[in-house]
Amino acid sequence: MMAFTHIAAGSASALLAADWLNAPAPQTLLMLGGGVLGSMLPDIDHPGSAFGRRVLPISMMLSAVFGHRGITHSLLAVVGMSALAWYSLHHLAWHPGYSVPFVVGIAVGYLSHLAGDWMTNSGVPLLWPSKRRFVAPLRLFTGDFREYLLAFVMYGWVIVHGMRTAGR
Ligand SMILES: [Zn+2]
Repeated sequence: MMAFTHIAAGSASALLAADWLNAPAPQTLLMLGGGVLGSMLPDIDHPGSAFGRRVLPISMMLSAVFGHRGITHSLLAVVGMSALAWYSLHHLAWHPGYSVPFVVGIAVGYLSHLAGDWMTNSGVPLLWPSKRRFVAPLRLFTGDFREYLLAFVMYGWVIVHGMRTAGR
């Protein structure tokens, strides 16, 4: 799945979660930011990915040790990364009123990435270290025009819905 689509799905999921939690506008924005970040994090194990290129040494090491779509594409990583983010923000003395929505956004964005890759042909090792790869019966994200179409629909929804939240 392309970074473009992952970001679309991450921001849409974060907005949905913010809505569901009845989050006020500033917290919605923080969740959205976390969602975008979380949606890119799993591909940190891919030196060629949008995010991996920015942290090349880490990304090369991860891909050498675990391979692409290894540990970073597991439920263990969702918990680990959220805990790491929470710990870092705590140390930066972020108020929980801001750090909680941001970390929830990261977790939601991260999960949306795993869900997205689940709907591709290669699937994801959700229960890593088990090597079993989970593949959705419905493969939506195939890297062709359908994926672009879905991504555009999600971006459209995020913009319309985001503006409505901002005006609340
Ligand atoms: Zn991925």
